[in-house]
Amino acid sequence: MEKICNRCVSNSSINSLNLDINGICQFCKIHDEMEAEYPLNENSFKELLKISDRIKEEGKGKKFDCVVGVSGGKDSSYLLYLVKEKLKLRPLAVHYDNGFDSDTSVSNILRVCEKLDVELETKVADWEKFKDITRAFFLAGVSDPDTPTDVGIFKSMYEVAYKEKIKYVFNGHSFRTEGIEPLDWTYMDGLYVKDINKKFGKSSLDKFDNFELKDLIKYNFINGIQTILPLNYIEYNQEKVIKILQENFDWINYGGHHHESLLTKFVVSYYLPKKFGIDRRRTGLSALVRSGQIKREEAIEILNVPPILNDGVELKNYILDKLDISEEDFRLIMSQKNKNFKNFTTYYNFFKNFKFFAKIFYKLKFIPKILYLRYFGGDY
Ligand SMILES: [Zn+2]
Repeated sequence: MEKICNRCVSNSSINSLNLDINGICQFCKIHDEMEAEYPLNENSFKELLKISDRIKEEGKGKKFDCVVGVSGGKDSSYLLYLVKEKLKLRPLAVHYDNGFDSDTSVSNILRVCEKLDVELETKVADWEKFKDITRAFFLAGVSDPDTPTDVGIFKSMYEVAYKEKIKYVFNGHSFRTEGIEPLDWTYMDGLYVKDINKKFGKSSLDKFDNFELKDLIKYNFINGIQTILPLNYIEYNQEKVIKILQENFDWINYGGHHHESLLTKFVVSYYLPKKFGIDRRRTGLSALVRSGQIKREEAIEILNVPPILNDGVELKNYILDKLDISEEDFRLIMSQKNKNFKNFTTYYNFFKNFKFFAKIFYKLKFIPKILYLRYFGGDY
């Protein structure tokens, strides 16, 4: 029988789903912990202004106050607008180009940066290596072949901050609308990338922007770079946000969930539903249900219709061709056993056994609360 949380729409397509005696899942509990730490009231925005005043003070005499990662998607576009127009900070926008940007996302990035008069730095991934490591993730049969992209984004933001001596990296994640993605579905760590590359890659990782424990220590511990999640402090309504972006920047809405990258579009709407029975929209919809932005029944109805791709076959062929994966290899990938990070060497067990290390990092604000809870707090 299918298990489903009584409050959100997390269900047994998440292997680690853990329902308590009242039928409430661990992700709802993480949400409540976040809500307790970041309650929305008349003081929340003032709190954010206080933080940005401190950042402004520290940024005096420098060219930039903070780094904002941009993808062309609504969350990061809105974040840049918030940081520049509402908080009056001087951001440096950073984009990681993995070779799969859609034309729409590129034009969104350029429009938003130009209109806001924000300097943009684009880090272009080494294509041959990026192709190799992403192909390796597919060959490994894991549920997160977009992890190399996420690692690349993470690394470029920190590397630029480090180079420019900027102490703050802003992140556009909102627990109220994006939610908490199960680790079984997407997992990110440098050792994981290394292990998959060793087993399925063709060349060394030298030319890939990996993010290892030593990088965390270099950027956070030694150089004191902090991550700030401003969307935790504001009421974040996606429809309103899209309207603001369209009115101010002629921003183009590309529709589907994280469709700003063709690779992510393929992973989310083709590969995951077909191979794993995973519908990543479930994470965001669960979040919207918890924060009261849609009704649970509505979310269930949306999920009853599988993600629609009008260009599914073309997109598949495009991705396979670009990554040099043959039709036959792809058939093998689709039919082999489903795997995830637990089948590979990662930092996970180390930190799970020495949870206090992770707790110290979190207490010192080197890793955001949401990240700490997602990786290590889910033992409900
Ligand atoms: Zn739940």
